[in-house]
Amino acid sequence: MRHATCIRGITSARTALGRFAISATVRVALAVVALTTILTYLIFVLQAAKAASETMLLIAIATTALTAAACGALAPLVRSNRRLRQEITRREGRIEALSDRLWELREAEERTKGLLEAQGDVIVRRGGDGRIAYVNDAFCALAGHSRDSLIGKTYTLTVLEQGATSVVADGTRAFDQKIATQDGPRWISWHEVSIRTDAASDQQTQSVGRDITDRVRAERVLAEARDQADAANRAKSRFLAIVSHEIRTPLNGILGLADLLRDTRLTPEQESYVKAVRASGDALFSLIEEILDFSKIEAGKLDLNIQPFALEALVESAVELLSPRAQAKAIDIASYIDDRLPRMVLGDATRLRQVLLNLAGNAVKFTERGGVTLIVEPGAASDEVIIQVRDTGIGIDPGARERIFSEFVQGDEGAARKFGGTGLGLAISKRIVDHMGGRLWLESVPGAGTSFTLSVTLPRAETANINYEVAVSAGSSALIIAADDIVAPLIARRLTRWGVETQVVSDPQQGLNEISKRHWETVIVDCNVGTANAIAIVQHCPAAIGRRIVLLTPQERSDLAKLTAAGFSDYLIKPVRAESLAARFGAQSPDRDPFLAVRDADTSHTTKSLAILVAEDNEINALLARALLARLGHAPTIVGGGEEAVAAFRAARDAGRAFDLILMDVQMPGVDGLAAARRIRALESTSECKPTRIVALTANVSVEDRETCLAAGMNGFLTKPLDRERLIEALNLVPKSAIAA
Ligand code: ADP
Repeated sequence: MRHATCIRGITSARTALGRFAISATVRVALAVVALTTILTYLIFVLQAAKAASETMLLIAIATTALTAAACGALAPLVRSNRRLRQEITRREGRIEALSDRLWELREAEERTKGLLEAQGDVIVRRGGDGRIAYVNDAFCALAGHSRDSLIGKTYTLTVLEQGATSVVADGTRAFDQKIATQDGPRWISWHEVSIRTDAASDQQTQSVGRDITDRVRAERVLAEARDQADAANRAKSRFLAIVSHEIRTPLNGILGLADLLRDTRLTPEQESYVKAVRASGDALFSLIEEILDFSKIEAGKLDLNIQPFALEALVESAVELLSPRAQAKAIDIASYIDDRLPRMVLGDATRLRQVLLNLAGNAVKFTERGGVTLIVEPGAASDEVIIQVRDTGIGIDPGARERIFSEFVQGDEGAARKFGGTGLGLAISKRIVDHMGGRLWLESVPGAGTSFTLSVTLPRAETANINYEVAVSAGSSALIIAADDIVAPLIARRLTRWGVETQVVSDPQQGLNEISKRHWETVIVDCNVGTANAIAIVQHCPAAIGRRIVLLTPQERSDLAKLTAAGFSDYLIKPVRAESLAARFGAQSPDRDPFLAVRDADTSHTTKSLAILVAEDNEINALLARALLARLGHAPTIVGGGEEAVAAFRAARDAGRAFDLILMDVQMPGVDGLAAARRIRALESTSECKPTRIVALTANVSVEDRETCLAAGMNGFLTKPLDRERLIEALNLVPKSAIAA
């Protein structure tokens, strides 16, 4: 457009200049004629004067005057002629500039064209009727036709595959096409826009296509590889689940029978062998658990089960579980849960517990002196809970700090590795915490200890805080005498929060001095100062000290009689629960989480003998179940499959001796546990009898397995290897009313 305007400008300027040039020449010629005439007349006048002819003189003067007048009239014409010359010069300059510009434009056009061709993009422009108005060389090459044979035609490329069209905000349509060409199919990614041309109203469509064949090929190869990897991953997860199931089943026999063996009369040597069997079985069991967990996480199958749970009970139960291990190493383990935290929170208790057990388990494993503390406090963000697991152990080398969160990595990887383990625990914990939307990090000083900190959001499940209603009078005071700096500082911290003025001393002699110096309302003595020292201290206490509490490990419990006789009024077993401490200070026990309350309940088995039907196809597991149940004082009936279980259930009911409980293996040949449970429920629904409690007994441990069992009508779920405590809990859950008289 601009180009054409320029050319028009130049042409009209030339025409105008031509006109000006012609009229100026005429005017100059006229001026010359006029001057010549004037001169001729002047000569004629002079000759007339010389001849003294009056008439001639008059004629000469008149003619001269007329000629002068004519010359005067010519003067403006001359001026105008000068202006016109200047104008011509100016316009010629402009013509030159426009010519230069025209040349530049032609050159730019050539350059742009060259650039487009060099880009390799395919360009085609079509009119409203679909006829090709322009094609570039790349399009001709793709189509396999010359430009001349394409221009003006409605030719279209052969499309083998058509991708979806997307429209960009500026109206550009984008789509991919697989095009058939002489050299085989090519993938072209098109961008199509509507454009208006010079020819007034003609609307054209310009399509610019880029050959993306190589990219599409690479993407397809990649997608195929990803699909194959996914399939392999699924196969691996399935394989691991099967292997884990298969290993769990014999492991159930090993661990269970080792336990039973330990209950028999054994020589010390035999006892140590059985213990070793049990320890090896436990190690194998946790290895399977970790590998299974890891594969589940890798396969993206880690589902969180968000339920209300009691945070304090969860942390304390984890500490209790680890305390035998800590006490066996003569180190301490204790927890402190800030009572500003909610009593019940929302989260996945099982997974959080797994993380805590792993962190605190490592802390115990890598600590030889001192101990481990778990401190739970509210974080700065709303609903944020900070859990710190600190130890006074070997510490972690700065170089290993990031690495140890990766799978199969251990801080100490030398051949002379002292500590066992798979190097999976932290990797799993980190991924669980990430999945919960939390953070896990560590600080460590080699040789001095490690502190793992976990930050998670646990929304409040109810308004009440942990908050113990402790009856503490004003000016209440407590002296704690303990030889460690793990348990005592945490007890002191709690008492201080309850408003008790507290002092901790580690030396028994200093303790005696403090007692002599002033009045204390409470004296707490940890037996780790030595039983003799503890007795000496309590005997030194004046009668005015009303609360004299001794702290004991379960092993030191045998000294309790001696200690009470010496003057202790009360005792606390380590690890000390906040609730137990509060009870010593007059607090009422708050209701605990029913899920965890089972653990606190009297776990001695029910005194009533239960009639229990056990459906188990594995002979060793059947033997184990029979022995375990008989040992607990119950009457087991063992059947080897689902079909037999249904028959035994029906026969017992018809004989008026219905079972109190059915322990049902899930995976059995023929009628499996699920089908058997459904059949039993169906039989019950057609008769008047009360439903019998059915508990699944299975080596399948996933949440889905649990849900399938419940959906089949079962009431509970026990996993193999069967844990004696868990079995007792399951037996205790049989409602008394349901037990046959
Ligand atoms: P493992 O089964 O080996 O304990 P983890 O993933 O739980 O696997 O831990 C990885 C490594 O991190 C351990 O082998 C150990 O070197 C180091 N580590 C973990 N926790 C501690 C700790 N509290 N103190 C010292 N080292 C630790």
